[in-house]
Amino acid sequence: MNYVFPPAAQVVVPVVGLAAVFPVRRVYCVGQNYSAHIAEMGGDTREPPFFFSKPADALVPGGGDVAYPPMTDNFHHEVELVVALGKGGANIPPGQALDCVFGYAIGFDLTRRDLQALAKEKKQPWEMGKGGDQGGPISALVPVAGGAHPAKGAIWLKVNGDLRQRGDLAQMTWSVAEVISRLSNYICLAPGDLIFTGTPAGVSKIVRGDVLEGGIDGVGELKIRLV
Ligand code: MN
Repeated sequence: MNYVFPPAAQVVVPVVGLAAVFPVRRVYCVGQNYSAHIAEMGGDTREPPFFFSKPADALVPGGGDVAYPPMTDNFHHEVELVVALGKGGANIPPGQALDCVFGYAIGFDLTRRDLQALAKEKKQPWEMGKGGDQGGPISALVPVAGGAHPAKGAIWLKVNGDLRQRGDLAQMTWSVAEVISRLSNYICLAPGDLIFTGTPAGVSKIVRGDVLEGGIDGVGELKIRLV
């Protein structure tokens, strides 16, 4: 095929223990999935989760330097478990959803909170708050081994060594299986899709020069520096 200009490179995420890399299709995020974070954002903890997306090329595989984005004075971190799908489908039952999972990673859902807040107030889309360039640093993927899926374990984030976020995967309102199943009611999922599954409490403002380190027990760690 002839293109009128060279197409953008396929976005890929490294896989722990493999030379092959994971080709990314779409990136979805869960809006609310830990009750303590919903409460700190002033939301209703009984509401079901909702979804938004980030552009695949907003991912920053492996972390490293991330440019502080324009058009914000209130840039926030959100540390999240990321699910990577090796299979897809529509209307996937919760009992079959984990069969679709290729592996897991830790990701940061970097958010221009002021733009998101303005969008909420005006009932406008969240894209400019959530989908900025380099807004999705992500670690290498850990493949599912022996059918073991992380359902509990610490999830944490430090800024310049100070612990800002700490939770446990067991505090997720909607499990990974329920998140996949519910999202597949709205759109047909496919291999290569990633889902950021929501953040625990403790989100806060970050500025140029800050170093963010996060971890999830059994999944990995991720470090970035805002430049
Ligand atoms: Mn988030």
